[in-house]
Amino acid sequence: MNERIVILGAGFGGLELSARLSSALAGDVSVTLIDKNEAFVFGFSKFDLLFGRENLEGVRSYYRDIVNPGVQFRQEIVTSIDPIARRVVTNRNRYDADVLVVALGAEYDFSVPPGFSEGGYEFYSIDGVLRLRDVLPSFRSGAVVIGVLGEPFKCPPAPCEAAMLLDEWLVARGVRSKTQISVVSPWGTPVPVSSSASKAILDRFAERNIAFVPDQVVTSLDPARQIAFLRDGRSLPYDLFLGIPIHRVPAVVETSGLSVDGWIPVDKANLATRFPHVYAVGDVTSAPVPKAGVFAESAGRAVAEHLIAQLRGGGPPKPYDGAGSCYIEFGEHKVGRVDADFLTGPSPTAPFYGPSLETAEEKREFASTRRRRWFGH
Ligand SMILES: Cc1cc2nc3c(=O)[nH]c(=O)nc-3n(C[C@H](O)[C@H](O)[C@H](O)COP(=O)(O)OP(=O)(O)OC[C@H]3O[C@@H](n4cnc5c(N)ncnc54)[C@H](O)[C@@H]3O)c2cc1C
Repeated sequence: MNERIVILGAGFGGLELSARLSSALAGDVSVTLIDKNEAFVFGFSKFDLLFGRENLEGVRSYYRDIVNPGVQFRQEIVTSIDPIARRVVTNRNRYDADVLVVALGAEYDFSVPPGFSEGGYEFYSIDGVLRLRDVLPSFRSGAVVIGVLGEPFKCPPAPCEAAMLLDEWLVARGVRSKTQISVVSPWGTPVPVSSSASKAILDRFAERNIAFVPDQVVTSLDPARQIAFLRDGRSLPYDLFLGIPIHRVPAVVETSGLSVDGWIPVDKANLATRFPHVYAVGDVTSAPVPKAGVFAESAGRAVAEHLIAQLRGGGPPKPYDGAGSCYIEFGEHKVGRVDADFLTGPSPTAPFYGPSLETAEEKREFASTRRRRWFGH
């Protein structure tokens, strides 16, 4: 009988893993890929939606289009995971797996910190983006605070990218001189792994009069007085507050016993959990890499290589490299790139390539190759 591989979550990690298994092992394995949504949206497409470059339909890739041989997509909600029996229950079915891979990503908790759900907006969820897109045109003067509410959070450069894109958007509407933008970051620099990327962002901030407030998070909002309070007791007045929400594993992961201290611990060499034949990839794990699609993708690839080696025989594959190229939007249609490698050497390396139109084209190509590989179009 074919090996039954069940993958929970069809984001960057689950899609890459299922596509790789299909091209190497179709016929020898049966892959079931489960997601509650009907379509995938790249994290970075949220900026396209927010600033009106695309509409929702334009950024969706439908799972029904998946054509990879041996892969069956099921649109179902995972309601329970038993990692010992490798049994998964959804709102419609029950699945018994020989190999189970959890790729359910991170969810957001909008109930914290105090005042956020009443007084803030966010651009991390699609609903949040659509709400913010509707109010942005009425923002014509005053202070925008883009504030991180806690760590870890997806895509470390995203708060700074939002600031640079918002600056450009406000300039185009002729209201930039009447507005102020600040970014509250938990770190001393925008992208700690790359001093040159951080310098390029801070240079751009200085040029565009964007304030960077380092080493802080926003601990509460007073929506009536429109004040954001920082960890060190300082406060920042705002007219528009954009929070980077608190991230958590989905509730079904928490109740499964897979997570420890909030996230699923994995062997960093092959993404195995402590349960035999159960793996976890991407944002749902505490793997020592940032929460970002490119690392979820490289983790999916590493698990695929590991499973292919197990099924086909041969030597063990190279350990997971924790590598990925992160694109950073600088505005004016320019994009920079950090080639991060967290696990190959004794310490992370992250050379940076400055913002250019060529790298913006490369980012579009990055998205197209994934659409082709994962969805066949
Ligand atoms: C504004 C913004 C910009 C970003 N820009 C970048 C970028 O430029 N580059 C980059 O690499 N990353 C970027 N990211 C981060 C990136 O989107 C995530 O890190 C990435 O999607 C994580 O991949 P994943 O496979 O771990 O999880 P996800 O892609 O989140 O996939 C998890 C899947 O699990 C499904 N799921 C969850 N719970 C259930 C359930 N109970 N039942 C069934 N299905 C379920 C979800 O529907 C989802 O499809 C950005 C994120 C944001 C918010």
